[in-house]
Amino acid sequence: MAQPMIQCEGLTKRFGSFTAVDHVSFNVERGAIFGFLGPNGSGKSTVIRMLCGILEPSDGTASIDGRNVVEETDELKEMIGYMSQKFSLYDELTVHENLTFYGKLYGLRREALRKRYDDLLALTHLEPYLERRAGLLSGGWRQRLAMACALMHEPKVLFLDEPTAGIDPVARRELWDLLFEFSGRGMTLFVTTHYMDEAERCSHVGYIYLSKLIVCGVPDSLKLLPEVNPPGTRRIDVTCEHVTVGLQALRHKAGISTATVFGQSMHLLVDDAVSDERIRSYLAEAGIHSVDLRPISPSLEDVFVALTAKHAEGGHA
Ligand code: ADP
Ligand code: MG
Repeated sequence: MAQPMIQCEGLTKRFGSFTAVDHVSFNVERGAIFGFLGPNGSGKSTVIRMLCGILEPSDGTASIDGRNVVEETDELKEMIGYMSQKFSLYDELTVHENLTFYGKLYGLRREALRKRYDDLLALTHLEPYLERRAGLLSGGWRQRLAMACALMHEPKVLFLDEPTAGIDPVARRELWDLLFEFSGRGMTLFVTTHYMDEAERCSHVGYIYLSKLIVCGVPDSLKLLPEVNPPGTRRIDVTCEHVTVGLQALRHKAGISTATVFGQSMHLLVDDAVSDERIRSYLAEAGIHSVDLRPISPSLEDVFVALTAKHAEGGHA
């Protein structure tokens, strides 16, 4: 098998007595779209900064395409693009000027710069905005420009730290379409996000909680883990009127371990011993009679919730 594009082993970062990243180990395969999730302050940006050679690890090792991120920083710079949470675009400069500036910063000149500039314009559809100042772009277009700037030197790996935070749903989807295009061209993407729907789009995901990596892998395999599907239980979707009333009716009943509202329906994790009829009768007691039940498989959110609970109990995921 090919060597993974990103490898980290026991990666740790301490700030004084506080451990921001605690012995994190994982690999990212070539061409993957790796989604890195976790609540605020869990250590995502710190992991990215260590992988990009900006922060030195307190312990552990990491490499990108076989290059050590501490010792081979010159090679590293050529291989990676980094779009930080607050990527610095020059607001007073136009789109054209920002792209040219970043291209030159990366050492591109004349023909090479021209070619890369044209390629990226075609890819990101920024052409109509070339003469607009970066400060006047909408959130989505600003992120596109930031991405184009971070890609000027044709990196193999692109790190994006919360690229979709604060942008509207249409721009968010378009940005993801663009990420899939990059991926289709063979680039490896490392993306942090808070959005579960974005996690579901990734080929691989990792979840970090209180500085520790809780789980990492392919979404479909994680959804099959026994911790997520305890033997003798099943997950069902219950669609009915007045779901919030229904939730109260089901929440503390024996054999119903979790009940959560999802829009017009509830998702339950129930013991096999609790029949559909039993659930219908609980709801009927609360005055809810029109009920639709169907089996469902766990979502990535279910995976993270189940494994975080297990971790909090002191178990090892
Ligand atoms: P995330 O990106 O998941 O929100 P961060 O990696 O930014 O989390 O931060 C993880 C923790 O490390 C936070 O508690 C943060 O306050 C702390 N931290 C990050 N950078 C520094 C720093 N340079 N000095 C001290 N503490 C830091
Ligand atoms: Mg962060």
